[in-house]
Amino acid sequence: MYRLLFAVVVLPVIQAASEGQSWAYTGKEGENSWATKYSFCGGVYQSPLDFHGSILQYDSTLKPIQLYGYNASSTDYFTVSNNGHTGTKNDLPSILILVSVSLPPSMYIEIPPFRYIAAQLHFHWGSLAGHEGSEHCIGGKRFPAEMHIVHYNSKYVDIGTAMEVADGLAVLGILIEVGSFNPAYENIISQLAHIKFKGQKFNIPGFNVRHLVPERLDEYYRYEGSLTTPPCNPSVLWSVFRNPVFISEEQLHLLETALYCTDQNSSAPVEMTDNYRTLQQEGDRLVSVSFREGTVLAVTLACVLGSVVIVAVTCWLFRRKKGKKDTKKVVYTPAAPKEENVSKV
Ligand SMILES: [Zn+2]
Repeated sequence: MYRLLFAVVVLPVIQAASEGQSWAYTGKEGENSWATKYSFCGGVYQSPLDFHGSILQYDSTLKPIQLYGYNASSTDYFTVSNNGHTGTKNDLPSILILVSVSLPPSMYIEIPPFRYIAAQLHFHWGSLAGHEGSEHCIGGKRFPAEMHIVHYNSKYVDIGTAMEVADGLAVLGILIEVGSFNPAYENIISQLAHIKFKGQKFNIPGFNVRHLVPERLDEYYRYEGSLTTPPCNPSVLWSVFRNPVFISEEQLHLLETALYCTDQNSSAPVEMTDNYRTLQQEGDRLVSVSFREGTVLAVTLACVLGSVVIVAVTCWLFRRKKGKKDTKKVVYTPAAPKEENVSKV
């Protein structure tokens, strides 16, 4: 029997809603107005951040992220949905809209001392003009897209409760770069045509979600931040992987063009593009890094090795020269007559 494991919410965008509880990325209800309705959005500990030199701090205690139950069976299924708006003020925010679905606690991560249960994943992307749509940036570089896998702390009864508390959520951030065709991402991207318009849903067979995540689980940025969409609760422990995953130019093109924020019958369809939040202030936060910067380490090693080689060669030359001089000074004297030596004993 099929069972729903996980919800793939492709759209964390609200274009319009009734009763005033709506938001968008541009226009009257764009980012600058979020804080008027959702006070957290104008508060502290907001996301996303740019990971740059002065705020990064190496932390040797950060262990590889452990993923459990990510390999879903093809006899299970995921629901992919175009989550066009939050509906009314009584609804949960769009990013968490499927929390009412009962999920088995089989897909989770562990970040000691807590276990976080997977709830949904979704994407942020740009548009054909620019191909820049990731939320987090590295050294000022914005990637073409970003995927978020949202988990909630297992000590809370559900994700709605968890998002209200500081240690409630743990989100994995996966940066997406253009490269070769990615069959794992094709499981989702190839289905976008079924959810072109707001409110549409489609079930797809389960697959190994591990394949959506970068190979290296030991290299990531870790900090305390927020949901990047209203209500912007500062309840997220972020882990953004250092290495991006790659999808093809065609796959990115589909992601950037396939969907609409508006419903099927809209007389003024609005394309779903540029659904990423601008960078937020880090304030007094530091970002912990689980790895040492590759280039800095390489340069340091090269300098140390270079110095050792120079010192070794200098010593060798000096000793060789000294050896030659000593050889020249040796004076061979004839041995004393045997009788003389004997007489001295
Ligand atoms: Zn997100």
